Amino acid sequence: MTTAPPALPTYDDVVAAAGRIAGHAHRTPVLASRTINAEWGAQVFFKCENLQRMGAFKFRGAFNALAQFDAAQRKAGVVAFSSGNHAQGIALAARELGIPATIVMPQDAPAAKVAATQGYGANVVFYDRYTQDREQITRDLAERNGLTLIPPYDHADVLTGQGTAAKELFEEVGPLDAFFVCLGGGGLLSGSALATRALSPHTKLYGVEPAAGNDGQQSFRSGAIVHIDTPQTIADGAQTQHLGNITFPIIRRDVDDILTVTDEQLVDGMRFFAERMKLIVEPTGCLGFAAARAMRDELKGQRVGVLISGGNVDLARFSALVSA
Ligand SMILES: *Cc1c(COP(=O)(O)O)cnc(C)c1O
Repeated sequence: MTTAPPALPTYDDVVAAAGRIAGHAHRTPVLASRTINAEWGAQVFFKCENLQRMGAFKFRGAFNALAQFDAAQRKAGVVAFSSGNHAQGIALAARELGIPATIVMPQDAPAAKVAATQGYGANVVFYDRYTQDREQITRDLAERNGLTLIPPYDHADVLTGQGTAAKELFEEVGPLDAFFVCLGGGGLLSGSALATRALSPHTKLYGVEPAAGNDGQQSFRSGAIVHIDTPQTIADGAQTQHLGNITFPIIRRDVDDILTVTDEQLVDGMRFFAERMKLIVEPTGCLGFAAARAMRDELKGQRVGVLISGGNVDLARFSALVSA
């Protein structure tokens, strides 16, 4: 006998998430560029999650998950492992909800990220990337102290929270012909897919990942989750090794294709956003734009959405990348 797979979250869960995060997450602006519209002969709408609280969409999913903790979970606290935006999203959402947060980070995590996470009041626990298994450490902490583990993408409350950004975009601009979304483990893309199929069912929906780590594309095309080694790319928010057990079936069902771009295309995107739109976008945040730009000839005459996922890049790294 086989057990039925758990039911996947639906657009109703995205709507419920939107209700929970209202008044806590920003409703981020949708911006346009006359230069791009003229160059591409299209109408392009940029949903700016680089202007979200803590600098990325991750606050949405974190807040939606933590807001559903019961009294005992709230008292004991949350634990997460991340050196990036998920850590900051959990830390900020936890502070806002009065929930203690523990974040497991590698000893060599960038000082700015550690400081930002601690600045939101989280307790940071370090581990050695070369000798210790972070998932094991996190699970031990969770068990010993009764903490609830919130993973970065493969969790129904996280991904439906992430889907609220796409929901806002369609509510603001109406249906789109094509929509480009950054892809790591697939929380953002699967949540966006639920919103897209509900609000603009005929949109061509693309997930975009770094060419150096195209596990999502391989998984999408083969029909089974492909695991890879941690890819070498400047898109540090998309250095995931595989899609999730919840994110993958939604992506497989609701997404039209997975595309890839090079680090060089991401840097070109960072330069464009800074020069023409006065936006600081982190490398991972440029994935969607870079892919859309590469197929602009096909987008002529269309209404196109591009999700800018985040803007957390320290200035020294930003200037080194854009001036190279
Ligand atoms: C986490 C993250 C991503 C990837 O999101 P997934 O839900 O893992 O696919 C993309 N961009 C930024 C800025 C991120 O922080």
